[in-house]
Amino acid sequence: MNAAGEGRTIAVIGGGIVGLSCALFLQDEGHRVTLVDPREPGEGTSFGNAGVLSASSVLPIATPGTLRKVPAMLFDKTSALSLRWSYMPRMLPWLARFLLASRWSRVERHSQSIRALVDHAPAAHDIMIQRAGAGDLVKAGGWLKLARSAEGFERATGLERQFLRRYGVPFEVYEGDVIREIEPCVGDEVTHALHLTANRRVTSPVEYSRRIARAFLERGGQHLKMPVLGLDLLGGAHGIIVEGKRRPFDTIVIAAGAFSGNLAADAGHRVPLDTERGYHVTLPMPEKPPEYTLQALEPGFVLAPMLDGLRLTSGVELAGIHAPPDFRRVRRLVPLARRYIRGAREEVLSEWQGHRPSLPDGLPVIGRARTHPNVIFAFGHQHIGLTLGPLTGRIVADLVAGRTLEIDLSPYAADRSFI
Ligand SMILES: Cc1cc2nc3c(=O)[nH]c(=O)nc-3n(C[C@H](O)[C@H](O)[C@H](O)COP(=O)(O)OP(=O)(O)OC[C@H]3O[C@@H](n4cnc5c(N)ncnc54)[C@H](O)[C@@H]3O)c2cc1C
Repeated sequence: MNAAGEGRTIAVIGGGIVGLSCALFLQDEGHRVTLVDPREPGEGTSFGNAGVLSASSVLPIATPGTLRKVPAMLFDKTSALSLRWSYMPRMLPWLARFLLASRWSRVERHSQSIRALVDHAPAAHDIMIQRAGAGDLVKAGGWLKLARSAEGFERATGLERQFLRRYGVPFEVYEGDVIREIEPCVGDEVTHALHLTANRRVTSPVEYSRRIARAFLERGGQHLKMPVLGLDLLGGAHGIIVEGKRRPFDTIVIAAGAFSGNLAADAGHRVPLDTERGYHVTLPMPEKPPEYTLQALEPGFVLAPMLDGLRLTSGVELAGIHAPPDFRRVRRLVPLARRYIRGAREEVLSEWQGHRPSLPDGLPVIGRARTHPNVIFAFGHQHIGLTLGPLTGRIVADLVAGRTLEIDLSPYAADRSFI
């Protein structure tokens, strides 16, 4: 607040779950917040995710085991990983850092840093759900990971269970027909299941974003529907460039997901941000809809019950932000859904592709720019941005207020070491 009791003027760049959460929590503190995004709220990557509010994401994506699997995965047309070879040269520096992040010493460190965020995320959602009136969109009950053999189950979840135990994250393991007593729609081929009981699910991620946007706009928040072309920070000023004009603000929050790299560079930080692209297709809901989010472990895909049907989400495609979508791989998974869920139908109602914003160590960038402390970074939430969006909004609000933070932000600094 200034001497007249007025809040700061703040531009939040990006209206995905992360930017919207920042905008609403900053507005709640009395700041005059302008959301800047050419798209409608939540129409970016926050639109099409699997809707899991994860309490269990404590194992980084990069582990020594993951890397052993990579060569075979790249040649398997249904695996959870694909690479456009034409993008390989651009991706190499990112991949080299990803390799380095898979060393045990780094896995240990990064898992603690992810855990610190995931631990605080549910409380931030509880506040957001209430604030945005979104209680009807969120269901408790958990997430079931499904395997069709004991070996497949061990391969896919053995290490994960070690980490869950270590961090005290609750889970259950089921075998045989017990699985179908818990979730009657699970197919007969499934023999083993890992039940992550503390996870919740959102039945429409885009509607969750829209409710946050509505709460923000109803209280007088502004939405400037334009792309930000760059930042103008000369001489200690803080401006965003839109339509060739400079608009001044006291504080700028960069929350443009996978598109945040150039804006961060304007604020003096070259971060190795790239994208792990992801796809979904919507299938008709089976007659008996699943109660839980289901994950097929081999090959890896998720079946998430949503308001508009059964959402089948795919793994990761490494192809940068500009390449057009290629739906062939996710379509190949559609017939496999039947192995995991009774009554799954092969009719594709809609298709979607989005960009997970990812740093090679799997951690987001949250915090102030070193040389421009009134520029705040809030991007790079990779596979768990829906989970971490509201928490990030709270952290950004705490930073602007100068409050002592619950979480040490040094692991998420823009200028941390990636090697
Ligand atoms: C298939 C898939 C499944 C997933 N499942 C889950 C899950 O179950 N649980 C979970 O927690 N996470 C999940 N995720 C990850 C999650 O969806 C993302 O981490 C999250 O949506 C990122 O949110 P964001 O706000 O950072 O980015 P986005 O939602 O992409 O929003 C960024 C916004 O910035 C805007 N923008 C870009 N450039 C500019 C500019 N120059 N000026 C102004 N605006 C700009 C864009 O228009 C966009 O609206 C999944 C992702 C995928 C792809």
